Amino acid sequence: MDAIKMVDLHGQYLKIKDEVDQAIQEVIDTTAFINGKQVEAFGHELADFVGAKYVVPCANGTDALQIAFQALGLQPGDEVIMPTFNYVASAEAAALLGLIPVFVDVHEDTYNINENGIREKITSATKAIVVVHLFGQSANLLPILEIAKEYKLKVIEDVAQSLGSTYTFPDGEIKKAGSIGDINTHSFFPTKNLGCFGDGGALSTNDEDLARKALMISRHGQGQKYAYEMIGCNSRLDTLQAAILRVKLRNIDSYLKSRVGAGRTYNRLLADVPNVKAPVQNETSYHTYNQYVIRLENRDKIKEKLKTEGIPTMLYYPSPLHLQKAYAYLGYRPGDFPVAEKLCSEVLALPIHTEITAQEQELVVNTLTKIIKSL
Ligand SMILES: *Cc1c(COP(=O)(O)O)cnc(C)c1O
Repeated sequence: MDAIKMVDLHGQYLKIKDEVDQAIQEVIDTTAFINGKQVEAFGHELADFVGAKYVVPCANGTDALQIAFQALGLQPGDEVIMPTFNYVASAEAAALLGLIPVFVDVHEDTYNINENGIREKITSATKAIVVVHLFGQSANLLPILEIAKEYKLKVIEDVAQSLGSTYTFPDGEIKKAGSIGDINTHSFFPTKNLGCFGDGGALSTNDEDLARKALMISRHGQGQKYAYEMIGCNSRLDTLQAAILRVKLRNIDSYLKSRVGAGRTYNRLLADVPNVKAPVQNETSYHTYNQYVIRLENRDKIKEKLKTEGIPTMLYYPSPLHLQKAYAYLGYRPGDFPVAEKLCSEVLALPIHTEITAQEQELVVNTLTKIIKSL
């Protein structure tokens, strides 16, 4: 057996090598490196997949969040609610625009934003909620949509980690993550459910006006050539990346199937391992296992021992956003969000990717079990 990898992008590439190489060569042959026809085509194909009317491709998922805030017309001083157990992007994009990130705690079992913490954070300055679908499954959207409606707040789904995940409404209607909020953001960083060969991102929305604004903002706020209607930025998806993404999007169902299969295999293998709490799937969500994050005591010691036994793991996330130095100016203190703080000391992401085999997963779990029993 080869060494176990946290991700295996090369193995995934080899299976589609001919198609990808040809797609790349086509872009080089036409030299339409910026705004080539593949970019728009990919946008339409992603819109079809997500079930949203419009997709605006952009340079990365962090830009997508910034563009979303701008398209919604948020102004300096406006407050944006978001989970503290999260990647930094939504806080950073908000702060750069002079918006105020307002953190809330998360659910201990699903790691997603705790809707019960939102209402108490709403002030007259609150304008939007970023719902991050963490690790591959959608957050509990319906109560959040209800709060948003009551207080006239905008909802942004951050789908960076959960493309292909779904949310099931009480009437049985199932919608894909990224088709529900007012405007939603995607990342095609290589390790995401749909990853390119560099940076890439997109926004999805059903609102024509927001789609138009997002597109304009991503192109320097330009309407007619050299006529700037809004303050924008330069955030384009490279044609090369779009060409690669088109090939990979054709395979997305099989990628998701592999991830879901691997996630369920871990669930089964870990069921009887002492000290390990497996990730819980929300009843209303389809979990696509972009990450497989367990909780356990003695996490740091176990991580170290796994490493010496050749099993790579990662920490998502070692510190909540409200306790990061960069966001100290917001005035949060240790103890403000006890669940997120506890999770940061307990979580451990096990290797999971589209190429992982059941044998590799057995080795991961057997090694983990052996280490736990030896402590
Ligand atoms: C990866 C990620 C982003 C940002 O994506 P980039 O393309 O790396 O800018 C945003 N939000 C979450 C939750 C992410 O995991």
